[in-house]
Amino acid sequence: MALFLQKTFRRINCASRRAFSVTSIHRGHQNGYNFELNDTQKEIQAVARKFTREEIVPAAAYHDKTGEYPKALIKKAWSLGLMNGHIPEHCGGLQQGVFDICLTGEELAYGCTGIFTAIDSSNLGQIPVVVAGTKEQQKKYLGRLIEEPIVAAYGVTEPGGGSDVSGVKTKAVKKGDEWILNGQKMWITNGGVANWYFVLARTDPDPKCPAGKAFTGFIVERDSPGVTPGRKEINMGQRASDTRGITFEDVRVPKENVLLGEGAGFKIAMNAFDKTRPSVACGATGLAQRCLDEGVKYSLERKTFGVPIAHHQAVAFMLADMAIGVETARLMWMKSAWEVDNGMKNTYAASIAKSYASDVANKSASDAVQIFGGAGFNSEYPVEKLMRDAKIFQIYEGTSQIQKIVISRSVINNAKN
Ligand SMILES: Cc1cc2nc3c(=O)[nH]c(=O)nc-3n(C[C@H](O)[C@H](O)[C@H](O)COP(=O)(O)OP(=O)(O)OC[C@H]3O[C@@H](n4cnc5c(N)ncnc54)[C@H](O)[C@@H]3O)c2cc1C
Repeated sequence: MALFLQKTFRRINCASRRAFSVTSIHRGHQNGYNFELNDTQKEIQAVARKFTREEIVPAAAYHDKTGEYPKALIKKAWSLGLMNGHIPEHCGGLQQGVFDICLTGEELAYGCTGIFTAIDSSNLGQIPVVVAGTKEQQKKYLGRLIEEPIVAAYGVTEPGGGSDVSGVKTKAVKKGDEWILNGQKMWITNGGVANWYFVLARTDPDPKCPAGKAFTGFIVERDSPGVTPGRKEINMGQRASDTRGITFEDVRVPKENVLLGEGAGFKIAMNAFDKTRPSVACGATGLAQRCLDEGVKYSLERKTFGVPIAHHQAVAFMLADMAIGVETARLMWMKSAWEVDNGMKNTYAASIAKSYASDVANKSASDAVQIFGGAGFNSEYPVEKLMRDAKIFQIYEGTSQIQKIVISRSVINNAKN
């Protein structure tokens, strides 16, 4: 069954890539902007939407309340071809563009951003191997994710800090044909469930060595002796997602598991964000769309002073603000994804998309709670979960402050040149 669907999607996807490049050349580049999805993209979106409405929406509250990892849903998403979109065809993957992956992501996030994050973080773990792995590394580690419904994780943040990646303390020392890894990671999504991790470690102990040369990226097997995930963290929101610290104690990593070469890790870890920040932005957009839909529905049902509250302009304007946010956040994730798919440097657009969509999600969730009144503050209704779930979008994969550093640096550099 899974294989059949994977093959079907692969066919769809080849057509999608052809259609997409034709669209880019004939409409995007020559005839100006095109705001229409092609038929294949509409199909991908419809599959993701159906799965979300039928399977994720009904299960979201359960996973939020219990914190239980959504294993069955991950398995189903995998069998439908809604995961691992980045994986190259030579590994049996769909080799989708970021745009198509985000189309799926926005739909999944509409249902539950905890489940979206569980899926999306596996993509984040895979990207370093997609962009910097050898064919052999890709076949072994990415191919594994096609064979089975398992996930990867991205291990960069440490207890000492996440924003300042050059402060990573986990170290790896070369001994013969192996590297010996020691250190601790923190806040790693899929930390307790991943089959393997991308791990960034310092390999040049000289404090004067620039970040661009001091760190190395490794693929580390979860079941290597010395790898110990900590307890599942109890977070404010997105509780379906598995977040943990991980300790590495004298972990032996074969030299074959170094990505690109000694000293290349920092760039690999940072460049991954060009492909993954559009995806975080699409998740935040999906959450904001859910806030809008819940807000509209409730405000047409709930009456005060003899009329549905949607007829009070103060309420209607909150809906209008949400609609403005959703539409513009969506355009921005689309632009940043389209840029990277078309070989353009999208760091600036991806940071704008991520920080803007995160703010839209938080404002929309807060307004949705407001529209629900007392019911908005209660866990029997969906919107308090949306408000708790929204916050992390302003924190993970680079806080909003870090995004603004990236954006302002780009604006200032452009002005100087
Ligand atoms: C649920 C969850 C899942 C996560 N998943 C992953 C994962 O899968 N892999 C992974 O590697 N990491 C993951 N993270 C870590 C996440 O990326 C970091 O939490 C984030 O980058 C911020 O780092 P920090 O928590 O150490 O905050 P700090 O870096 O200590 O920042 C604290 C505050 O200071 C601000 N700040 C810091 N430096 C500056 C500056 N130069 N200018 C202005 N303001 C600044 C920040 O914006 C923030 O407001 C996850 C975190 C959470 C909570």
